[in-house]
Amino acid sequence: MTTEDSAARDPEGRGGGPAAGRDQAVRAAVEQGLITPESPVAGLLDVTGIRRSAAALRAAFAEVTAPGTPVLHAFAVKAAALVPVLRLLADEGLGCEVASPGELALARAAGLPADRMVLDSPAKTYAELREALALGIAVNADNPQELARLDTLVGSPGSPGSSGSSGSSGSSGSSGEIASPLGLRVNPQVGGGSIDALSTAKPISKFGFALRDEGAREWIVRAFLDRPWLTRLHAHVGSQGMPLELMAAGVRETYELAEAINAAAGRRQIDTLDIGGGLPVSFASDEPPAFGDYARLLRATVPGLLDGRYGLVTEFGRALLAKSGMVLARVEYAKSAGGRPIAVTHAGAQLATRTVFAPEFWPVRVVAYDAKGRPKAGPRVAQDVAGPCCFAGDLVAENRPLPLLEAGDLAALLDTGAYYFTNHFAYNSLPRPPVYGFAADPAAPGGVRFALARPQQTVAEIVAESGGAQRDALTSGGLGGDALSGGGRGGGEQGGGADSVT
Ligand SMILES: *Cc1c(COP(=O)(O)O)cnc(C)c1O
Repeated sequence: MTTEDSAARDPEGRGGGPAAGRDQAVRAAVEQGLITPESPVAGLLDVTGIRRSAAALRAAFAEVTAPGTPVLHAFAVKAAALVPVLRLLADEGLGCEVASPGELALARAAGLPADRMVLDSPAKTYAELREALALGIAVNADNPQELARLDTLVGSPGSPGSSGSSGSSGSSGSSGEIASPLGLRVNPQVGGGSIDALSTAKPISKFGFALRDEGAREWIVRAFLDRPWLTRLHAHVGSQGMPLELMAAGVRETYELAEAINAAAGRRQIDTLDIGGGLPVSFASDEPPAFGDYARLLRATVPGLLDGRYGLVTEFGRALLAKSGMVLARVEYAKSAGGRPIAVTHAGAQLATRTVFAPEFWPVRVVAYDAKGRPKAGPRVAQDVAGPCCFAGDLVAENRPLPLLEAGDLAALLDTGAYYFTNHFAYNSLPRPPVYGFAADPAAPGGVRFALARPQQTVAEIVAESGGAQRDALTSGGLGGDALSGGGRGGGEQGGGADSVT
């Protein structure tokens, strides 16, 4: 697979400036005791890099939009669901795209105002919709049934809500009271990219109103004409592996539908287009995401989108964070099997879930450091870099040529600022690792200052989250009762359990 090859081509990422900053951060992390035998893995976030990335995104769209165009860059919270990260991005003028009550709560905890949030999940409950509308958060409805729920909440003419039959006491009276900008998510069905699981714009996709299905466009136009309070269209064409041209084609389809709706309405009913996220990231080099290229491609492909008649929302996730994060993990043991050196580290499927389960799509660069955090030299030796999880496939790199990793060394997984250590997988009840932000500071030891952005999950927290307080729920304290557990052990009658349930 060519992606795997390219990840291996520049494994140490020493092509330029970012590598030097990375090396310094690793060295300082060791010097300051962030990585120790007792605390063998951490996520590190380059705060300056995140700010630079946010600035690059803003500048890219500022360059192509008419002066005065309202643009909201709403960070896709799922990519790095950490309150201090959302706060940092808010500080850079960004908003949040949320897709669950948890993500909404994180964005609110970060202090995001309602007018900088967008709610997009494909499975919003009635209660979630009501809360979003009560807060004034933008909502993009995914399907006709969800739109019908909005009808009841908004109280549009002819809807159950306006006739008072919904029985929902929280229903808002009229559209005049709704501060939330409301829109529909469409699937332009322009096709998929190289990663099937992340391709949202294939003809068959669970997301949005499928635009090219028979009768769909007419249905959507009618839906807007019937609902003056619908003012947005949203499309998110895919993530990672999508060619920019396909993304731009999806945006063009969405724009053209907006133009058709506004023409049919005889007014600028749709005032804002939400063009989603999905800008791919290089996992093979330090090349930054191409915000500028994408913005210029949009100008070339959909000039009308940027001429000032429409407000814009974007929803980038990975492109904003991936390059600014790394996992740093200690090598616990270095062994060999079948002639293959294997470094057993503390970073595996619990942090690099996609890489472990779909390595052909998600190769990551691994850099070898010694126990003091200095880049390892020496000849490259093909080796496996394994994680701590108890299954054989728990490898973050297989047969990868690297300076030979030894016990006590460190392995850094690069470009993991999005969807890696912030998207923990609870396999083996391994704890969520601590996350530190860092920035250059000549006064700090090693020239780098760290700030804890998320503490390591404690074992007590793992027990609590795993039903620690419900210990006896399935036995004497709940379903079992003395009769059943006694009967089970004694191999006697099973019928006695019914008593204990009541
Ligand atoms: C995941 C997602 C995004 C962000 O995708 P990235 O590839 O991380 O930029 C944006 N919008 C929606 C609706 C999403 O589901």
